[in-house]
Amino acid sequence: MERVTLFVDVLLPLPLPGTFTYRVPFALNDAVQAGQRVSVQFGPRKVYAGLIVKIHQQPPQKGIPKYILSVLDSRPVVNDFQLRFWQWIAGYYMSTLGEVMAAALPSAFKLSSESKVVLSPDFVPDTETLSEPEYRLTEALLQKKKLTVHEVSRIVGYQKVLPLLKTMIERRLIMMEEELVQQYKPKKTKMIKLSEAFLDERALQQLMDQLSKRAHKQLELLMGFLTLSGFPLKKDFSVSKSDLLHKTQASENALKALTDKGVFVQEEVVISRFTGENNETEKTFSLSAEQQKAFHSLKEQMQEHRVVLLHGVTSSGKTELYIKLMEEALAEGKQVLYLLPEIALTTQIINRLRKHFGDEVGVYHSRYNQNERAEVWENVAGIQSAEVHKPYRIILGPRSAMFLPFDRLGLVIVDEEHDSSYKQFDPAPRYNARDAVIYLAGLHDARVVLGSATPAVETYFNAQNGKYGLVELSERFGGVKMPEIIVVNMKEEKRRRMLKSHFSSVLLHHIQAALDDKKQVILFQNRRGFSTRIECEQCNWVPECKYCDVTMTYHKKSQLLKCHYCGYSRPVPAVCEHCGSPNLVMQGFGTEKVEEELAMILPDAKIDRMDLDTTRAKNAFQRIIYDFENRKTDILTGTQMVTKGLDFENVQVVGILSADNMLSFPDFRAHERSFQMMEQVSGRAGRKDKQGIVIIQTWQPKHPVIQDVVQHDYQSMYNRQLAERWRFRYPPYYRLVMVKLKHKKPELLNEAAAVLARDMKARFGNLVYGPEYPMVSRVKNWYIKQIMLKIKRNEQLSDRKKELQEAISEFKKQTPYKSVRVQIDVDPQ
Ligand code: ADP
Ligand code: ZN
Ligand code: ZN
Repeated sequence: MERVTLFVDVLLPLPLPGTFTYRVPFALNDAVQAGQRVSVQFGPRKVYAGLIVKIHQQPPQKGIPKYILSVLDSRPVVNDFQLRFWQWIAGYYMSTLGEVMAAALPSAFKLSSESKVVLSPDFVPDTETLSEPEYRLTEALLQKKKLTVHEVSRIVGYQKVLPLLKTMIERRLIMMEEELVQQYKPKKTKMIKLSEAFLDERALQQLMDQLSKRAHKQLELLMGFLTLSGFPLKKDFSVSKSDLLHKTQASENALKALTDKGVFVQEEVVISRFTGENNETEKTFSLSAEQQKAFHSLKEQMQEHRVVLLHGVTSSGKTELYIKLMEEALAEGKQVLYLLPEIALTTQIINRLRKHFGDEVGVYHSRYNQNERAEVWENVAGIQSAEVHKPYRIILGPRSAMFLPFDRLGLVIVDEEHDSSYKQFDPAPRYNARDAVIYLAGLHDARVVLGSATPAVETYFNAQNGKYGLVELSERFGGVKMPEIIVVNMKEEKRRRMLKSHFSSVLLHHIQAALDDKKQVILFQNRRGFSTRIECEQCNWVPECKYCDVTMTYHKKSQLLKCHYCGYSRPVPAVCEHCGSPNLVMQGFGTEKVEEELAMILPDAKIDRMDLDTTRAKNAFQRIIYDFENRKTDILTGTQMVTKGLDFENVQVVGILSADNMLSFPDFRAHERSFQMMEQVSGRAGRKDKQGIVIIQTWQPKHPVIQDVVQHDYQSMYNRQLAERWRFRYPPYYRLVMVKLKHKKPELLNEAAAVLARDMKARFGNLVYGPEYPMVSRVKNWYIKQIMLKIKRNEQLSDRKKELQEAISEFKKQTPYKSVRVQIDVDPQ
């Protein structure tokens, strides 16, 4: 038999350009397939799980290729659509393919010399089921808690390390160490089977005779089991321990006795965590006349446009329209991806979707632990056994859900498409999921619906000029009126001494009225912590972070000053560290203070808070939302988390405590963002029968953005923004590419930034802005300077990016600047 020599191009999860060619040992010729992981050696002593992207017979030009060490998967875990999608992301967002791979794969799939393994928390030492190397590794882990893959390879040899780890991860013996360690609990259940020996009827009869003499309890249990299994005896029948005990009313002791006698065999199996959460499905609802019209229009537009914007005011029934569209996509046998900006939102939407689609809906997000994520991934890839869970056809999740191995995507919904959390900031690739899924949909010939009550200016622009389809819904469902907006002039309130701490008399009056009415209230403040800073009355000294160029926020509960950029915290100083004066005053206020002061003013109200500080625990969102939905909470305070898409029936009043700091934020999107935030949070008021009230506290009541919110006038905001964007060369007329340089030495950074900017200006002329310090010019002791490149909308983007890449490579070649970190952000938010 003729044996061909095969090579594979392997992608590694590293920030290096390109792929690496390895040779396939003859014995593995039939085992390799693109999309599978292989274990490879890289550098003198490192091993990685890399991904086969191509199989060919072309030996590399230079050097002798190493052999792959082993093939880790028996079936591809990544499909061709994904590889092409990754390639596009790497190109468009100017990152490497390896960085995209690292972002896309769940950590359970990523193995490299540097990654660390730990014992799975419910690992029980059981020498019988462990192979020799498994035993040695678990022993080592019992002693050392964690080991790098590199260290493990010293125990078992680097040839074998990754296959060993892979099977041990799958058997839930070990897991990869994660930054975000959640309470990890693989869902297992004990199954009871009849042992082989008693499948034989004669043996079974004998056993029963024996038991009938002395062990009635055991006999009852056995008979109960046989009843459950039915006749004739099925070889593979098993029942979960809890079911068996429950249905036969037998005792643990009886079960133990029969197990000890070798009649029953117990085995642990992993079951899906996602079944049985909600089984009732409720499919019927009919669209209102306006919704029906919008639905037809959506479908019509989807014929002509890949992307359609659904611009519908809050509570107009966008979600109901998505559900109709999803039904149609499923009927065609397609998959649906439903993106949401925030994890907080999935809690509510998942319940609505499960009512319609039952357990065909899967959720994928970063708050799940790695095994849960790997489980969803394998399900979508079609390599999970159907016994664990039938294939999901709808996937709901935040931006990272777009990386799942879809193979027949029909519809992508991007809900609240304007939201900036669709953008990944760090690390690279700095992608925007809203934009990236449009390319992904193209690969599958799928359709994309972008939905929002307050579309991003860029999106609305695309819809206006015909690039996207556009469907508008201008009425709330059921004839509910848009909320009434009351603007409170804080200057006036202060002058008339009507302010109680940060609450105006108007706001307090309406809160009280709502509470008297048994209605609920949402209060929004876009800062967390207690006071935003502490200041010396004598000399104006303000404590700043040691490592960052930001003032520290006072958190009362923990009695600490915290840096919101790097997490550094310190005790509150008793006296000014500059002049020694004890007169330190608090300035500004955050959600923690709102909660506390409100509790003093309204001692009988039940108040809860939703912000980053109160939602770190895995199920905290669910708890807060559940309590509010079930009216255990009267007033919910919080940061922008409370503004987004949540649907509560009983909210009468929404208060925006301080509109001003959003409006004055130094960013070209500040006005757009303020409008979106205020309009969105208003949308939480009065969703069912009664008109809601929104109270905006501001020192500048005449501000045009505030006036637009009063009128619910998106168009007016949009038109004003367009004019400004045109004048100052911003999106949608120009695309932005932000280059950030970082270094610990400010002098070197200054010089480096000037050099790169000079080269960029030589290439792009006056479309280069900077270098300048960003608003926060030092984070974790790294100084930052930025240079902005603007690219005219109609210009060939890829050429410009290539040129920019050249400029950066030239710059990086210069010896003094090798240590400067360069980050590129395409379409920064
Ligand atoms: P949006 O997503 O635009 O904010 P939703 O889809 O959440 O709006 O609808 C707002 C409320 O109105 C929800 O409680 C929803 O259940 C209800 N609703 C909307 N359309 C219908 C319909 N056709 N039939 C019954 N209830 C509807
Ligand atoms: Zn002082
Ligand atoms: Zn800091």
